[in-house]
Amino acid sequence: MSAPLLIKLAPNGGSFECAPGQTVLDAALAAGYWLPHSCRTGTCNTCHLSLLEGGVQHAATRPDGTDVPAGQCRTCQAVPTTDLLLDAPKVPQAPGQRVVTTGAKVLEVTRPSHDVVMIRLQVPPTAGFAFKAGQYASVLLKDGAKRSYSMANNPDEAGVIEWHVRRMEGGRFSTHAYDKLKAGAMLRIEGPYGDFVLQPGDAPIVLLASGTGYAPIAALLKTHGAEMARRGAVLYWGGRQWSDLYAVDSVAAWEAQYPGIRLVPVLSEAGPEWTGRDGFVHAAVLADIPDLSRHEVYACGNPLMIDAARSSFTASAGLPAEHFFADAFVVNN
Ligand SMILES: Cc1cc2nc3c(=O)[nH]c(=O)nc-3n(C[C@H](O)[C@H](O)[C@H](O)COP(=O)(O)OP(=O)(O)OC[C@H]3O[C@@H](n4cnc5c(N)ncnc54)[C@H](O)[C@@H]3O)c2cc1C
Repeated sequence: MSAPLLIKLAPNGGSFECAPGQTVLDAALAAGYWLPHSCRTGTCNTCHLSLLEGGVQHAATRPDGTDVPAGQCRTCQAVPTTDLLLDAPKVPQAPGQRVVTTGAKVLEVTRPSHDVVMIRLQVPPTAGFAFKAGQYASVLLKDGAKRSYSMANNPDEAGVIEWHVRRMEGGRFSTHAYDKLKAGAMLRIEGPYGDFVLQPGDAPIVLLASGTGYAPIAALLKTHGAEMARRGAVLYWGGRQWSDLYAVDSVAAWEAQYPGIRLVPVLSEAGPEWTGRDGFVHAAVLADIPDLSRHEVYACGNPLMIDAARSSFTASAGLPAEHFFADAFVVNN
């Protein structure tokens, strides 16, 4: 059996071992090195790092068939063929929170709309599972496939996590969760993952959600409500119908508690009785705030919405690309 390879991080000097066949990102997260990442399926490009020394094989080609640029490593897909030196300037030398795999008991299942199920899970406090607002975890299916869901609650609750899952017709986990999941069931989960966390600073904030993309934004609001109100935050929440905005009452509660936070609901298929905003949710942002050069944007949900928002906000509203933070709900391979 081959020996593990050593991966070093420049310039801060962290290092960790990578088992044969393991991806760079999996090895890093298991060791507590938080390399940038989002989808972990080779789709979003968030995890690309410059390869300073060594070689990798990319386990899968991109879904759109394009190659990884020369000198880059797509860490969620790359398996090292030699020891590596990677350029990861934001990663400190000392490891932090590790990704853990643990059983989790379903505490409560509620169905606030015709296709959204809210699931509260109890993770054993001894499991070492801790997350930051905005992160996600994966549920492991019996055949080893994984599905990712963002935590929608405040991380302070000891060992409890809340997911908002939208039922996708024909989808393996989401139909099971909506149609059959009950309190008392056990799930196997893995996490936390993701970088969709509030950045420190003073920039006014635009929150952009489609459907259950509201889940990590709810966690950000619950955890950083006062900070967001101080900076000024507008949540544009898009759905087809009013019922897609399945937790609109809780947003109204934040608006009342923190006058600096405001909700703009945007419906794309509302009937003639709807007098509010309609059309694409990112277009409503552009219409209201044509200059985003001083803002930060946190977008979550449908990958097409996120691509459209990223490209239009940076191209025509002056948003600096590094001020756009997103988790795209890409379908797992
Ligand atoms: C970082 C991240 C966070 C996420 N957070 C959330 C969240 O908080 N809430 C949420 O609701 N979702 C979230 N998602 C999406 C979630 O992980 C799942 O992709 C989603 O729930 C669908 O899973 P599923 O098992 O039900 O469907 P799958 O079985 O994966 O199927 C997905 C869709 O593809 C179709 N499909 C499947 N196989 C085929 C095939 N062979 N041919 C044609 N069509 C096919 C299905 O009919 C279905 O419509 C997140 C995704 C990511 C990457």
